Amino acid sequence: MKPPQADALAARKQQVADLPCGGCRACCWHDRVFLGPADDPRRYRWHVEDGYAVLDRRPDGACVYLTNSGCGIHEQAPSICRRFDCRVLALTTPADVMRLRVQQNPQMAEVYRAGRERATTLPD
Ligand code: SF4
Repeated sequence: MKPPQADALAARKQQVADLPCGGCRACCWHDRVFLGPADDPRRYRWHVEDGYAVLDRRPDGACVYLTNSGCGIHEQAPSICRRFDCRVLALTTPADVMRLRVQQNPQMAEVYRAGRERATTLPD
């Protein structure tokens, strides 16, 4: 049986994240920001990668909607952006999977670091 904390973390993946991001935008440099069934594709600039709809990226690799002051489409950001919680990701991803993801996309090291740094702000 899974410990209660694991269930609580899994449930948080379904919620809109309430994160103390500060100036951190690490997740906006993720290699793939997926559009989901709840996202109206007419609202976004996107393309297909390996069969998945993902937001376009700037030439430097960041999400096309990232601005100097953060997300440029904040309230209309795709559901994955509104639900993504780097703290949960950092606490639930096995170490070997983390290493693999960082090899595939070095920016993920920053996302995991940001999650660990904020882990103490997760509500019980
Ligand atoms: S849509 Fe906004 S929150 Fe989502 S990755 Fe792009 S800039 Fe970041």
